[in-house]
Amino acid sequence: MIITNSNIITWDQSHSLLLGQSVVIKNSIITEIGPTGEILSKYPDDEIINARGKFLMPGLICAHTHFYGLFSRGLYIPGNPPKDFPEILEKLWWPLDSSLLAEDVKYSALVCLIDAIKHGTTTLFDHHASPLCINGSLDEIESAFIASGVRGVVCYETTDRYGIESRDQSIDENLRMIEKVNTPGNNNSIVRATFGLHASLTLSEDTLDKVRKVLPGDVGVHIHVAEHGVDESDSINKTGIRVVNRLKNHQLLGQNTILVHGVHLDQSEIELVKESKSWMTHQPRSNMNNAVGMVDVERMLDLGIPVCLGNDGFSNAMLDEWRSCYLSHKLWTSNPQKMNGNSVIKMAIDNNSRLVSHFFKGDTIGKIEVGAKADLILVDYNPITELNSDNIAWHIIFGFRDSMVTDTMVNGKWLMTDRKLCNLDEEKISAHALSLSKEVWNRYHAKFA
Ligand SMILES: [Zn+2]
Repeated sequence: MIITNSNIITWDQSHSLLLGQSVVIKNSIITEIGPTGEILSKYPDDEIINARGKFLMPGLICAHTHFYGLFSRGLYIPGNPPKDFPEILEKLWWPLDSSLLAEDVKYSALVCLIDAIKHGTTTLFDHHASPLCINGSLDEIESAFIASGVRGVVCYETTDRYGIESRDQSIDENLRMIEKVNTPGNNNSIVRATFGLHASLTLSEDTLDKVRKVLPGDVGVHIHVAEHGVDESDSINKTGIRVVNRLKNHQLLGQNTILVHGVHLDQSEIELVKESKSWMTHQPRSNMNNAVGMVDVERMLDLGIPVCLGNDGFSNAMLDEWRSCYLSHKLWTSNPQKMNGNSVIKMAIDNNSRLVSHFFKGDTIGKIEVGAKADLILVDYNPITELNSDNIAWHIIFGFRDSMVTDTMVNGKWLMTDRKLCNLDEEKISAHALSLSKEVWNRYHAKFA
């Protein structure tokens, strides 16, 4: 297949902009990039998709999300609104995640994946919790990824909140899915698994010991870290040390580990994150919504920490997260010099691409270059000022809209063409999700009766 007449934003090492060029795709891989005339004469019999001057760029990546949060949209929380993040967990997320059944899990994933495809997001790292149905819940999410064609990394949020039996089921669910999908024979699959942990504040020493013992050598953990100060004070009360030191003592840091948020890390913890080569993810919309503060991610980037961008369950339109990231740090610090457009690119493009490529071992994902996986989007954007490789970030932040994404491809397969979904029936899935949500809300509200 050849995509012709496109303006390519490569996001390769030099962030090149290639005007009026074509990309050749064989199976799931980009095999050649060149001037349209040259490519067409070389491959006269290939299927041709004419981009008609649209921008072709790698699909967007979300480094941390929660599909299960979908049914919180519009949900009435009984009593006074939560006064802080611990109350948000206790009044919203914990009663909600423990109201989900297997079908809710599947449909929350499908609805989020439709949202992702329509807005150009082609890989998501999901962090799942559904204590009423732990066993098999990751299969529901895996099957939704496969049905949608979107690339994903799944895990189950292990916690002590629901007792030992539930904790052990969560550990087994993670291990089972890791064994199922991270196998060498599964190389062209679009789903991988890692090991999920909720957060230090809901995990005992015994649980962390147990997880370390059973964790396969090439697997790390995906865990919320110091999202609110209570995670740090809980760790100090329980063990006398801070959260990152605690994870280090349990040998849970490293290049396969994803640390989420890190808002309240101190300097020594930031140094440990750097030394350990763990990934950090930043979710500014969630930080604003939970009023937990903001972390100076640009300083982390300067130190060489691979900070990535996620959405923490907000819309799967990642450009919304880009814009929030660009704006929120300026307001938080009262400093318009904070959060350069290229810092957003560093997280959302460079580091997110490295993260996905790391989890899909051996594949290059998130770049347009020969040998990379064909995870691509077409964006119908008409620049009204000069666009060059130095100012792309600002064109995207101020000019691109997610609705300008017209076509989405993952692993060489179209998931949306001309704004029409190829694999999923949005109307049917949305209607069924709406009917399921009523039961979820009933179960949630029954907990307050
Ligand atoms: Zn999260």
